[in-house]
Amino acid sequence: MKSLLKLNKYLLKYKKPLFYGFLFVILNNLFLILTPKYIGEAIDILKSSVDSKMVFRYVLLAVGSAFVSGFFMLLVRRSIIITSRKIEFDIKNDFYAHLQSLSLTFFKHRSTGDLMARASNDLSAVRNYFGPAIMYSINTLFRLIFIFSAMVVISPSLSFFALLPAPFLSYSVYKVGQMVHAQTKILQQYYGILTTRVQENLSGIRLVKSYTREAYEQERFSETNNSYYKQNLKLARLQGLFYAATTGLLGLSIIILLWAGGFKVINAEITLGQIAQFLIYIGMLSWPLVSIGWITNMVQRAAAANKRLIEIFETKPEIIDSPEVDHAIKTLEGDIAFENVSFSYPKNPSQLILKNISFRIEKGMKLAIVGATGSGKSTLVNLIPRLLDATQGTITIDGVSLKQIPLQTLRKAIGFVPQDYFLFSDTIRENIGFGLPNYSKNDVEQAAKQAMIYEDILGFPNQFESMLGERGITLSGGQKQRTSIARALIRKPKILILDDSLSAVDTKTENSFLNNLDDFANQMTVILISHRISSVKNFDKILVLADGCIAEQGTHDELLASNSLYAELYQKQLLEDELTAME
Ligand code: ATP
Ligand code: MG
Repeated sequence: MKSLLKLNKYLLKYKKPLFYGFLFVILNNLFLILTPKYIGEAIDILKSSVDSKMVFRYVLLAVGSAFVSGFFMLLVRRSIIITSRKIEFDIKNDFYAHLQSLSLTFFKHRSTGDLMARASNDLSAVRNYFGPAIMYSINTLFRLIFIFSAMVVISPSLSFFALLPAPFLSYSVYKVGQMVHAQTKILQQYYGILTTRVQENLSGIRLVKSYTREAYEQERFSETNNSYYKQNLKLARLQGLFYAATTGLLGLSIIILLWAGGFKVINAEITLGQIAQFLIYIGMLSWPLVSIGWITNMVQRAAAANKRLIEIFETKPEIIDSPEVDHAIKTLEGDIAFENVSFSYPKNPSQLILKNISFRIEKGMKLAIVGATGSGKSTLVNLIPRLLDATQGTITIDGVSLKQIPLQTLRKAIGFVPQDYFLFSDTIRENIGFGLPNYSKNDVEQAAKQAMIYEDILGFPNQFESMLGERGITLSGGQKQRTSIARALIRKPKILILDDSLSAVDTKTENSFLNNLDDFANQMTVILISHRISSVKNFDKILVLADGCIAEQGTHDELLASNSLYAELYQKQLLEDELTAME
């Protein structure tokens, strides 16, 4: 329950509409208790004399008070429920903004389905707390106070009898509510599993189809769905029990009232009209009494859901500006040095993925990294924009440690095309301009030309405005890679990092891209990871990684002369090229 207190700041933001809502609840209940009173009086008049004028007057008063009370209820909903929607909107924005700030490792260890469930189900449970739960609890409170006072005025003893079952009602509501809560928690977990399964399946639909796993996947989904269904049924049964208990106890109230009240009427202690009035009051209490259980449920669910949200909110981004950051650094030149850098992933700290990496490239130099798959190439370049932080050693740019450079400055200076690049379901233009606050048509075209994708784009039906993804065209692997390169180039970065970004591009296009690089990127420090040695021949420096260590470094000629790993790789690839040429 404590977790909900953390949400007070959202309530404070909307204290005005909430205050009005509170006021309207009081007014609503004030008029509500008048209706039964007028009906009761109308009945008593009927008993003594049939004065149609008087009856009409009371009926009019009853209808009028019901109408006014209804009107205030409308205002209650307008103020409180609408506020709850606004709060939901605020939390959603905060949640999303927080997710964006979290580090890569966070997302590696969380399933998308789980995060989605938190952002949808948990958030709406919290909204229920702000809206319906708050509204019904103040409403219930005032209704109980008002109606109970009205009843006591008529007959204290009858009020006592009529409300005799109320404590049992509260207790059973509480007990069943607890069971419902436990079951809701289980259900939420099943829902998370279900959404993860669907999400993975739809993202990997191409694979599912090509391996003809549709039937198998269908079966797996059906199993998960079945467990979810069974848990849902359990919840429905519990809720059924809840309503049976509440309505049963309320029925008991009415029977007691008729029995005890009947005697009082016979003894002329109260009138028939007052009994009618009492009956209507009990009817009016039925919903608030039931809603106590309902609210308990809602608040409990909200508390559990909020705990799950807080867990995310309290996860601190691991990579942030460190205290020693120097905000005066606004631009970078691109002189990069690694000094004895080692790295291990937090999940497996004993396994060093990079070991004692030291090298230096000056501004404007072109560095190539080659090495077997899994040798640590991607990990190494991820350290430069601080997508990962080195475990040991220092990395400097322009002689300044990465930790001293503001993250904003650092990442702005780097054009990074990750190995698992991603394009959004948006236009090609938006995909290339991604991340820039403003850019011209010319900028996009120039970047496209530099990335050698311009001609391809002109061939698409809507050219730069063509939509990509689900609702648009599908690019080939090589086209996707070049679009991602254009996205990096439009930022005119000081440092360009291409992680195997030309693997799906044909050798001819790759070579002309790399040749052009010398023209438009002569001031740019370039780091290229490649499996194709022929494409890195002309680079200023080549690092050969093996098992997380730099096995060799130098120029193409130097490395060939040393006659080791690199030379071996080169000979092998030459041979392969010759063989393919002969085919
Ligand atoms: P490739 O040529 O296939 O792209 P690479 O040289 O880029 O390979 P890396 O991706 O840097 O290799 O991976 C180096 C090692 O780090 C591998 O053994 C890999 O299993 C491990 N690794 C990569 N990412 C993670 C991660 N998030 N958590 C734990 N280990 C990881
Ligand atoms: Mg890699």
